[in-house]
Amino acid sequence: MTIKYIDQIDIKGKRVILRVDFNVPYDDNMNITDDTRITATAPTIEYCLKNNARLILISHLGRPKGKFVPEMSLKPVAKRLSEILKREIKFLDTPLGDDLNKQVLDLKEGEIALLENIRFYPGEEKNDDDLGKKIASLGEVYIDDAFAAAHRGHSSNDAVTRHIAACGAGFLLKDEIEYFNRAMKNPERPVCAIIGGAKVSTKLDALRNILVKVDSILIGGGMAFTFLKAKGLGIGKSLLEEDLVDTAAQIMKEAELKKVNLLLPIDIEVANEFNNESPSRVVPADDIPEDTIGLDIGPETINLFNDVIAKSRTVIWNGPMGAFEMPNFANGTNSIAQKLAESSCLSIVGGGDSVTAVNQAGVSDKISYISTGGGAFLELLEGKTLPGLAALDK
Ligand code: AMP
Repeated sequence: MTIKYIDQIDIKGKRVILRVDFNVPYDDNMNITDDTRITATAPTIEYCLKNNARLILISHLGRPKGKFVPEMSLKPVAKRLSEILKREIKFLDTPLGDDLNKQVLDLKEGEIALLENIRFYPGEEKNDDDLGKKIASLGEVYIDDAFAAAHRGHSSNDAVTRHIAACGAGFLLKDEIEYFNRAMKNPERPVCAIIGGAKVSTKLDALRNILVKVDSILIGGGMAFTFLKAKGLGIGKSLLEEDLVDTAAQIMKEAELKKVNLLLPIDIEVANEFNNESPSRVVPADDIPEDTIGLDIGPETINLFNDVIAKSRTVIWNGPMGAFEMPNFANGTNSIAQKLAESSCLSIVGGGDSVTAVNQAGVSDKISYISTGGGAFLELLEGKTLPGLAALDK
């Protein structure tokens, strides 16, 4: 793929349409509870300002399904962005069309406008070409920095690129692509993938794709039980995807053929009920009592996994090792996060829950790269071409 980056495009004094992902979480009082995605775009915005560009920011928020939903307005985001950048942000809620184009033409060098939620337009998620054309008519250069939305081909990151000659990626998108490529395309070996989370079904394509790229795969979380079942072990009341037991067996066979060191938990923290207060104990993975649920990896598994991490030069992690939202079952996930932070390897963490786990363990600054994409990161792991990136490949 040949993608131009923002620093390879002339943006001086130009009207730059910047697609960002400001799809941030809110609490019930409409307060933004995590502004990571806003701050992550600051380097690109600052670079545009340094080059006296006139910025038109476009984002989506939530799933308004093509209708105006007041609770999904980007107005509070404009306020937060203004606080972060210490600059005025013009929030333009005029619908796309001549009036908005006039307002945008009035922007002076170094001014920033944020448009209203692009998903209020029914055409956005349909990748409507006319909508893409209207978006393109707002500026002279189009820059995409919305990695977390890159696995969707929508008007504001796909159709728009058909109507504007100068297109490229911002610094956030550049970092996401470059770090991922360093881990999966030309990695320093040995390479280890840690895959966890609830279900095998959502990680199946990723597992199949990484099998040919890595030296070790460490499997934890709820999905490990379908693998343990495939080895003929009893798993009590733990999470199971019965229809995927054969597939899990195939994956293990394939790993053996390819000489990939695929490791499953050897001991498990089990409880009688799926709740934090339920008394728990550690049992061997081949001796899980019938009336218990496996909710975390045990200490021997932590040691086993940590040994592999310590010997790896590149580690990529997606999905928690246990039901880590419950503090009593967060030890496995936290220990892996700690070990990854201690290691000098290239460490890349992606997917909402693993990112939360790394933050919870207080080690995010010791991880080489934390992806801002959940679905987009997983699709990269699956080996898919992301529509948002393909659209920039001119
Ligand atoms: P995912 O979105 O597929 O990465 O899954 C994340 C979810 O998996 C989290 O909400 C965890 O609580 C859950 N999870 C991890 N391990 C287990 C387990 N052993 N049993 C049930 N849920 C789990």
